[in-house]
Amino acid sequence: MVDARKVKEMAAKKANQFIGNVSGKVPPHKHCRICQEPIPVAADPRVCKQQTCIEQNEKDEKNQKTVRIAMFVFFGLFAIPYILALAARVMG
Ligand SMILES: [Zn+2]
Repeated sequence: MVDARKVKEMAAKKANQFIGNVSGKVPPHKHCRICQEPIPVAADPRVCKQQTCIEQNEKDEKNQKTVRIAMFVFFGLFAIPYILALAARVMG
């Protein structure tokens, strides 16, 4: 049997918790970007002290760097002919 009043109470409690979080009752903190564990605001890089998270973060950062370089090269491949064509038109 489901007690409707209990369910309502629980929902209210959950809502209060949510509102409490939003209104800043929780001291400022960040979350580990890997496991979402709360960490100090000053933490840098934004990971907890777990070795797996530190390693994962390093891997992610390396991946991001690679992606950025790849995008730069990709963009360059398109931009250079375009710029050359534009320059040729301006000069010619
Ligand atoms: Zn973590």
